[in-house]
Amino acid sequence: MKILFFDTKNYDKESFQNSLREFSNISIEYVKSDLDPRTAALSEGFDAVCAFVNSDIGTATLDILHQKGIRLLLMRCAGFNNVDLETAKKYGIRVMRVPGYSPEAVAEHAMALALASNRRLYKAYNKVRENDFSLSGLMGFNFYQKTAGIIGTGKIGAAMCRICRGFGMKVIAYDVYQNDSLKEFVEYVSLEQLLSDSDVISLHCPLMDSTYHIINLDTIQKMKDGVILVNTSRGALVKTDDLIEGIRMHKFAGVGLDVYEEETENVFEDRSEEILEHSTTARLLSFPNVMITSHQGFFTREALEAIATTTLQNALDFMAGKPSANDVDA
Ligand code: NAD
Repeated sequence: MKILFFDTKNYDKESFQNSLREFSNISIEYVKSDLDPRTAALSEGFDAVCAFVNSDIGTATLDILHQKGIRLLLMRCAGFNNVDLETAKKYGIRVMRVPGYSPEAVAEHAMALALASNRRLYKAYNKVRENDFSLSGLMGFNFYQKTAGIIGTGKIGAAMCRICRGFGMKVIAYDVYQNDSLKEFVEYVSLEQLLSDSDVISLHCPLMDSTYHIINLDTIQKMKDGVILVNTSRGALVKTDDLIEGIRMHKFAGVGLDVYEEETENVFEDRSEEILEHSTTARLLSFPNVMITSHQGFFTREALEAIATTTLQNALDFMAGKPSANDVDA
């Protein structure tokens, strides 16, 4: 099978080439361009295409992939909200994904953000580099015996619950479904109670109509003063303007964000002054107790290996005509 791999980064190529040694009947050609209606025609002569979260896999792209004879779309990520599934189905293009590659990778990053913003590690790092060894502005609080509130206890949220328990925290959670594997040490509560009782709040629910802007002025006002808020899930779970207002009201001891509402607009790739001036993300960065990373939660060696191996196994299952739990409609 010949796969055309879109939006290739060096680390993608390295992890896929390593895993490919186990899959002798698959070959991959890598291109830097992302998949969209302008680039879909590159798939001529291939059996499958491999794409990612930001690819544009709407109707126009699928029309072209179908014309070029593509039968398999390999998403090397969990999400598929960028795929027009109805059109893919109409053309008989099978869509497969990698549902959970390394929940610990994202949960560990969430805890890193919570700790870094609590103990002002970025400020401490810069101060010491400038030969300033004073402790002013660096005081945090112990996580031990404090309350962690986890919103969404699926794969990543559950990993975060286990990490918080390891820190000796009381763990409470809010989810529309309860995760039985956590029942020995997690207490499920209402969203209101979670907001009012937690010292650290971490978001791990998906972005849906019911969770869009779940963190807004109303929910922020229900939080404890001095709370730490972490979002490694999806930017639009948080209404950024309201978060800024909450920070101005001194609600937060720290805020750690791996995702932000403007992510898809490439705010930081186009650093023109006008964009930065109007960017709420740039405004967030002006606060000393906010730490932002660039959607890197998933970015560990283990997670990349798991993504590559599962994607290639998906291709193998396709070739064997086997149904798979990784089919998006499974
Ligand atoms: P999952 O599907 O295993 O878990 C999601 C949980 O959220 C489920 O338990 C679900 O019941 C719960 N949920 C659904 N609606 C809810 C609501 N209204 N309120 C509260 N909980 C609700 O997903 P996962 O693998 O744990 O991933 C969680 C999120 O992490 C993903 O949606 C994705 O956006 C994000 N993610 C981020 C990165 C990164 O690099 N930062 C990487 C992978 C995933």
